[in-house]
Amino acid sequence: MANRAYNFNAGPAALPLEVLQQAQEQFVEFRGSGMSLMEMSHRGAIYEGVHQETEQLLRELLNVPEGYKVLFLQGGASTQFAMVPMNLLKPGTVGAYVATGSWATKAIEEAKLFGETTIAASSEADQYKRIPAAAEIALPDNAAYLHVTSNETIEGTQWASYPDTGTVPLIGDLSSDILCRPLNVSQFGLVYAGAQKNLGPSGVTIVIIREDLIGKPAGPVPTMLRYATHAKTDSLYNTPPTFAIYMTNLVLRWVKAQGGAAGVERVNQEKAGLLYAAIDGSDGFYRGFAETGSRSVMNVTFRLASEELEKQFAKESEAQGFSGLKGHRSVGGLRASIYNAVPLENVRALVDFMGDFARRNG
Ligand code: PMP
Repeated sequence: MANRAYNFNAGPAALPLEVLQQAQEQFVEFRGSGMSLMEMSHRGAIYEGVHQETEQLLRELLNVPEGYKVLFLQGGASTQFAMVPMNLLKPGTVGAYVATGSWATKAIEEAKLFGETTIAASSEADQYKRIPAAAEIALPDNAAYLHVTSNETIEGTQWASYPDTGTVPLIGDLSSDILCRPLNVSQFGLVYAGAQKNLGPSGVTIVIIREDLIGKPAGPVPTMLRYATHAKTDSLYNTPPTFAIYMTNLVLRWVKAQGGAAGVERVNQEKAGLLYAAIDGSDGFYRGFAETGSRSVMNVTFRLASEELEKQFAKESEAQGFSGLKGHRSVGGLRASIYNAVPLENVRALVDFMGDFARRNG
């Protein structure tokens, strides 16, 4: 479509064009029901069909084993920063966190409101340019869990593989890389992700939780903030975000048609490979922010020689139809977010622009 931007937004982010068109076709009248999906009861058979199919698709695409619940919650991943400690921290236990950047830090700060926390490893001294090695992680005996941020959206770092925590439940914030590659859910006690990067629009948060962790929180927790409330009711305790779940359904069908997690992973590797090659082959004109071994396949962060030049890059790219390349205000620089739905051609167009910009300004 001629007027679609090269969308590199960090989230909410690009959705597959086919999905948007499908939603448009079904927007006013949904599958012979005489109304929009947004106008019907969440207790009716039509919506329930969408709800259940979305859960089934997630189970299939993420290969979720028996013994795990898949939940659709609200409040964004930011609410999970609180729900995890509220539900899982018990007196005498400590929430352990790996401090990898901006989002991990937010999760830690929130957990401090509810109990004792510890930083099991940190790359703060290296400006969060890297993911700590497994050997750096010091897990206390009384850890209730170890929390990792799978992909730091702002710094552009990503865990290549997750640490083995033995019997201590591993908790993962997968907001910015869920379903970018196959996942071994059984390594985790709980994973969560806001939908608005790889799964759909904002408004729904996916939680996958091992059933033995649902249990009973140690202290009083509001009904809506207990995992048990939503696990017992198949995420239909109250009105769910029906439209966001429906859009997620369409995105998951699209991922399935791309060959599932392994299919999108191949394209993601290719897209990230092209951008990192453009950075590394620029004779230092572009400098990658993340250390090589910790580079994200979802958020490619880079800097130029001066902030002035970075501003010029952002401005000129915007004028040529590229959107969202300015880095997050907290770290500056530039960032290309290349989630599943960003087409390979758009990455090629960006690589061409980068080459051209470097020739004109190098
Ligand atoms: N964690 C990560 C890794 C994120 O990228 C974000 C959002 N950019 C969040 C948490 C917060 O998500 P939300 O806006 O859904 O609360």
